[in-house]
Amino acid sequence: MKYYFGIDVGGTYIKAGIIDGKCDILCTKKIKTIPDKPNFLANSIIKIINSLLEENKIKAKDVLGIGIGLPGLIDSKNGVLGFSGNLKLKNYPLKSELEKVFDIPIKIANDADIATLAEMHFGAGQKTDNFVMLTLGTGIGGGVVMGGKLISDHSDYAGEIGHMKITDKKIKCTCGEFGCFETLASTKALVRETKLAMKKHPESLMWQTYDLNTVTGKTVFEYINSDETARQVFDKFIKNLGDGIVNLVNIFKPELILLGGAVSSQRSKLTAPLEEYVNNHIYARHAGFKVKVKTATLANDAGILGCRCLFD
Ligand SMILES: [Zn+2]
Repeated sequence: MKYYFGIDVGGTYIKAGIIDGKCDILCTKKIKTIPDKPNFLANSIIKIINSLLEENKIKAKDVLGIGIGLPGLIDSKNGVLGFSGNLKLKNYPLKSELEKVFDIPIKIANDADIATLAEMHFGAGQKTDNFVMLTLGTGIGGGVVMGGKLISDHSDYAGEIGHMKITDKKIKCTCGEFGCFETLASTKALVRETKLAMKKHPESLMWQTYDLNTVTGKTVFEYINSDETARQVFDKFIKNLGDGIVNLVNIFKPELILLGGAVSSQRSKLTAPLEEYVNNHIYARHAGFKVKVKTATLANDAGILGCRCLFD
């Protein structure tokens, strides 16, 4: 049997999994991401790979590839992490650091691109050649698939959907700019707006279950139909997220928009109003065109499974 490793590096955890020849994930493991020492990233990845090999009695010579997804700007050709605010790294030669230890082909890519590849090959994007995936979390990651190809295949750093400038609101983005899409429509933005609305409206029903420390991206969804304050936050969120998606549909005309990230577990509570908003505002509506909005299907596995797609 031959195997691949998929490594999903996030700001909080590094998750790793072994993928078998049938593209099933055999086992996974996760460790905390602690940016403490200069070489923490390579050392953490080496540690997690070695322990998975040992626990599953797999020999390194039976591993055909190690794929790694990372947040930030990735130079996939040279295997260099160009910039990652979350990991506090700049121009870090991850691939060559790992090649000192493993005699196995290693490929690195942007994590949202990897999640998009996973949905394209194994998930909700399988039946279409034209879709845009958005992962909603601390920021908004994304991948654009046109004609069955990810556009960042042609150019690293392409498809940075979260940093489209869509507002003159002075909310500073992690990229250093103001007015980026993700400052208004990420889960982090939804949580921020929920807290602001709760402070402004102490009569809001949301206060009955939550205080400002326990608010999450789910809070508003629980009260959409019973609390006016929650409804207003939700409607604004749909408008903000919808406006960014309208731009994407006007530019790329995908058949499908896929939403990933924890908030996508709300499924039709999120997708139905969003699909309606988007289809009421896209330019191609005048020609009768409609886009579908759905949630991604692979959830947490996408970041590991998608790494398999980096290898032929
Ligand atoms: Zn930005």
